[in-house]
Amino acid sequence: MTDASGLVRLVFESYVGQAATYFAIVGLIFFALWRLGERRFQGARIQEKRRVDGRQIRREVKHTLVTLLIGTLNAVAITLLYQAGLTRLSTDAAAWSWPVLALSFIGFIVFNDAWFYWWHRFLHRPQVFRRAHAVHHKSVDVNPFTSYSFHAFEAFILGAWAIPVLMLVPVYLPLLVGLQVAGFAKNIEAHLGYEFLPRWFVRVPPFKWLTTSTYHNLHHTRFNGNYALFFRGWDILLGTELPEYEQTFVDRGERRTTGAVQRAEEGEPATPRWRRGSSAALGASDPFGGGPGRLLSHHAKRRASDGTGAARCAGLR
Ligand SMILES: [Zn+2]
Ligand SMILES: [Zn+2]
Repeated sequence: MTDASGLVRLVFESYVGQAATYFAIVGLIFFALWRLGERRFQGARIQEKRRVDGRQIRREVKHTLVTLLIGTLNAVAITLLYQAGLTRLSTDAAAWSWPVLALSFIGFIVFNDAWFYWWHRFLHRPQVFRRAHAVHHKSVDVNPFTSYSFHAFEAFILGAWAIPVLMLVPVYLPLLVGLQVAGFAKNIEAHLGYEFLPRWFVRVPPFKWLTTSTYHNLHHTRFNGNYALFFRGWDILLGTELPEYEQTFVDRGERRTTGAVQRAEEGEPATPRWRRGSSAALGASDPFGGGPGRLLSHHAKRRASDGTGAARCAGLR
């Protein structure tokens, strides 16, 4: 693929293919959890209030289209480098034993986890946050459409390791595909808005060392803390893990049920805001407009009023 028109066609076809696959999967998951399963999975909701509305989804889709374009350009560049023999990608199955493949896969996940953690910390520096990462954090009540809703700079940074690494480190091509699938699945899980893992998950090693949907969901409501994507290690080591994580993970169904009962008693309609087309609750989505504070004070009030989890209240910042 050397001529310009061939290159444009390759980019276009790859982009359309990626976008169609992405939105088909994300759309199905959203439909299953946020529409069809809305009542059925109520006990698994991580946040008490629903803030997602059509405006949020449209914004997320728009930013996702940019993220997918950057991902496509990265993939096309890797393809061209591979065709030119400039990468160390290999398709020779006989050269890769299962133990080596497994170690290689784990090694890449650990590397990717560190890459994500440190860049994520950088993206939270005030100047960088305002210019780039705020795009992702505009979504406080995260849902599957939030998964790839990034500023172009962030989208570039998150995949920027691939070309230099693939030019230096031998990688079995199907393993690279597996890593992409794992990264995609982890991102979706982090933004489900629901927690389906059993409560013992945060108590039993080695599971407890893994992050969960609740873990990243808390990052979206608290902003400062729980930066990691796959493992809790960096956050624990550097003191950036939110102290209320394990309690929130265990509490979720109970909190949701208590919240639903209380809201019903308060006369609040059961229909979620996003369905009613309201954007009133999106005040919480402005990271510099007192949003998180408002959200936290709401949580603090809720905890104080239902008389449970006083210790958690004290832990809120
Ligand atoms: Zn962040
Ligand atoms: Zn996120």
